[in-house]
Amino acid sequence: MKLILLGAPGAGKGTQATKISERYGIVHISTGDIFRANLKNGTRIGLLAKSYMDRGELVPDEVTCDIVKDRLTWEDAAKGYLLDGFPRNLFQAEALDTFAEIDGVVNINIDQSLLLDRLCGRRVCRECGESYHVSMLGGATVCARCGGELYQRKDDNPETVASRLSVYNEQTAPLIDYYTKKGVILNFTSTEAPPEVLFEEIRETLDRRFR
Ligand code: ADP
Ligand code: ZN
Repeated sequence: MKLILLGAPGAGKGTQATKISERYGIVHISTGDIFRANLKNGTRIGLLAKSYMDRGELVPDEVTCDIVKDRLTWEDAAKGYLLDGFPRNLFQAEALDTFAEIDGVVNINIDQSLLLDRLCGRRVCRECGESYHVSMLGGATVCARCGGELYQRKDDNPETVASRLSVYNEQTAPLIDYYTKKGVILNFTSTEAPPEVLFEEIRETLDRRFR
């Protein structure tokens, strides 16, 4: 099963991605996570990506496409994968078409008014990547899942969030049309209900379609 996860920043892609990859035994490939790992390790790609990420802009397409193209050749991707955060514009989508065949696109729609609070209140586990909203933590500073330290992503501040949202609206949202025309889109809506509720809907749809 080769899937793409599409949705605005803050739509809850990361949380759903973990659940989908566990359930279907496919590897979760997040370009944002790859860039953050590179940054942590001080690689050339990390240093290059940093300036774009800090501004909420896209890392250049050539760099991003090369990383994904290479990542898909790893052995763990042979059984299937879930792409999270890629493609993010038409150029990347067309590049992907040259090296992969996608079975489905899970598109998570969300009311934009929910996003600012979700992103600015988000805390992420340094170890396992799980995310939480500060209002649900009751002061906790470690991850309930693995005990890792929780931190606030540098790009989860009001200015950078605004630019990430406009990049999404201008460059990424057109992909909904692109994949609808290809007949592979699966549409969902994220609400204020717990993420398990949305996951049940996604699971039912994927089970019906792919099993
Ligand atoms: P979110 O979806 O919450 O904005 P991500 O972790 O997916 O967060 O991405 C964080 C940042 O990493 C983006 O704002 C961008 O700078 C960079 N990035 C991630 N994926 C891509 C991509 N496919 N193309 C270009 N830049 C990307
Ligand atoms: Zn954790």
